[in-house]
Order: sequence, then structure tokens, then C-alpha cells
Amino acid sequence: MVCNVIMGVFNPNAQGLTWIKINSIPIKVSEPNDVSGVYTVFEDMTEHRLVENSLKNSEEQLRLVLEGSQLGFWDWNIATGAVIRNERWATMLGYTHDEIEHTAQQWSDFVHPEDREKSWDSIWAVVDGRSPKHKLEYRMLCKDGSVRWILDQANVMQRDTDGKPTRMCGTHTDITERKILEEELRRQVQFDFLTEVSSRGYFMKQAELELARAKRYKSDLSLLMLDIDLFKAINDRYGHEIGDKVLQHFCKICRQVFREVDVIGRLGGDEFVILMPETSKAEATKVAERLRATVAESKIPIEHGLAIQFTVSIGVAAFDPKDDDIDVVLNTADRALYAAKHNRRNRVSH
Ligand code: GH3
Ligand code: MG
Repeated sequence: MVCNVIMGVFNPNAQGLTWIKINSIPIKVSEPNDVSGVYTVFEDMTEHRLVENSLKNSEEQLRLVLEGSQLGFWDWNIATGAVIRNERWATMLGYTHDEIEHTAQQWSDFVHPEDREKSWDSIWAVVDGRSPKHKLEYRMLCKDGSVRWILDQANVMQRDTDGKPTRMCGTHTDITERKILEEELRRQVQFDFLTEVSSRGYFMKQAELELARAKRYKSDLSLLMLDIDLFKAINDRYGHEIGDKVLQHFCKICRQVFREVDVIGRLGGDEFVILMPETSKAEATKVAERLRATVAESKIPIEHGLAIQFTVSIGVAAFDPKDDDIDVVLNTADRALYAAKHNRRNRVSH
């Protein structure tokens, strides 16, 4: 029989325990039970024990930090595909730790199909040595069918003798709330709160892009400048709230008359602008006339069976490839609008 024990012995010099591993093998002479002695090897395991304890402490510390910070943790053995994960990794998606498979494939299946390719690309870029670390925001599918945004950050933790990564560790942070806020903020900046058409700033950005595209492809680009006629009088007579309704109604008609590719923007107050890609001035004038007539005929019902009718004046301008920026065509459309207003309003001028 072989004896193998580790025991702590009080060391008066060190005023602490010295850990000793004792390996004993019996010396047999002839018969199985005839033992003449024992070979014993004593090994000082104190250093080893200290390292082991400190590793255990570090692991426990890491576990507590991850738990406290609500981080999902993953540790991927690249060769086998096996992954060690903490409980939070699973609960972030509405699963228990036991409900998930501990494979890289499981992660891949949970990643939103539209984000799967870029997620793997980012991982392989690190494995192939094209990128120092993996840091990506993507969507993951939850057990209840909902979607959560995850910030995934990882590093290579181990390499083989050729320097090829063999182990990668990372964390998942749930950033869904931040993403919702960001999206809301982006919507508020890009779209006018009242009418839901593009804000002035966002319209200008889109217009610059369309202008560059028109220049590159030598395609037509037209612009309409629109201003509701005598809008101040509507506000004065019916109140600001009804005035708001008129603005919303006007934009609803615009969305019906114009195409998806046309960009509708609110410059401010009752002044709007519409950009029409791949549209000549003659075609734009025709659509503007159709809009003018639709607005003039429409009625907005208010209280007591009454309805408001209003009109709009429109200036039309076409982009000239010689124009450097969008301001030139905006100014031309503005002059045409001014002419429409001075021609008794409810007019299209170009
Ligand atoms: P014109 O035919 O010359 O355009 O006459 P107008 O009365 O429409 O004159 P103007 O375009 O200068 O009037 C714009 C009015 O729009 C003045 C302002 O009080 C009102 N206004 C600006 N923003 C809003 C808004 O968000 N809601 C409402 N209800 N009114 C607004
Ligand atoms: Mg006006």
C-alpha cells in the first residue's frame, strides 16, 4: 500500500505551519505481507500551499467582484469549445445556469441573428491576432423572446508555445437601458417633437449627403420650401393647440403625397422644406402643385362641427451641379417662396 498525505507541522523558526507531503512505499521482501521497511520521501509543500491559497483567494475575490458588479463572466477554451460561465451570464438573458449549454455555440445561438456575423468577426480578429482585444456592443435573445443589449469585452488569457490563443476570458454588461436612452436622445435630436418630420439639423445633414450623391451620379435633385399661409391668424383665432394640430395635419398630408426617399424637414415655426432626390424641377413643381391643392381642399375638424381650412405657399428650386453647398439651392427656393407669398399666397413658384 502506498501512503500519501500532506500535513501541517508547527515550525518554531518560522512561527507558523510548514506543510509537508509524505509519500511512503512499503519495501516488500518476498511474501505480499512480508514488509521489511518503508521508503518515505518528505517534500516541503509550504510554497505550493501558499500559492494555492492565494489563487483560491483571488478566484473568490474575482467571483465576489463579478457578483457585485452584475457582470456576466465567460472563460472559453478555444480548442475544445467548452465555456465556463457564471450564473449572471445566464440570468441576464432570463435563464438559470443549469438551463444553458456551456459551449461557444450556445453563445452564438443567443446572439441576435443580425449581430451574429459581426460578433464572430470581432472574436476571430483577436484569435487571429488582427486585434488586441474584443470589445463589442450587440443584441442577445432572451428566454422570453425579448432582446437585450450586451457590452462584451474580452482578452486572450492563455497562448500555446507558438503564441496562438488557447483561452479567452470576457465579461458581459447589460447596457439595454443606456441603449434605449441613446435611441430616444437620437430620435429627439433627429426628429421634430411636434410633427415627427426631420429636425432642421438632421435635415441639413441628410441634404448634404443627397447633394454629394447627386453630384457624384450627376442626378437631378430638387428642393421645395413651404410656409403655411396666415398661420399666425389661425393661432390667434383658434389657439396655439389647434395651431399645433394644423402643423401635424400638414405633415401628415406631406407624408402621403411624397415618396419614402423624399426628406421632409421642419426649419422652424410653420416653415418646412422637402428634398426630392432624382427629381427634376418640372417634376418637383408638379408634385408641389398636387400638395398645394390637397392642402387647400383638406379640412381639419374641430369642436361644434366646425372645420379649419388653410393653404400653403411653395417655392421650388433645382440643384445645379455647380453649387458648392445646399445653402445655394435653399436660398433659390426661399426666393421662389417669397414670390409665391407676394402673388397672393396659396401658390407654387419656381
Ligand atoms: P405668412 O402667410 O406670411 O406666412 O403669414 P403667417 O401668419 O403664417 O406668418 P408667419 O409665417 O411669420 O407666422 C408663423 C407663426 O407660427 C408665428 C408663430 O407664433 C407660429 N408658430 C411658430 N411655431 C409654432 C408652433 O410650434 N406651434 C404653433 N401653434 N404656432 C407656432
Ligand atoms: Mg406662414
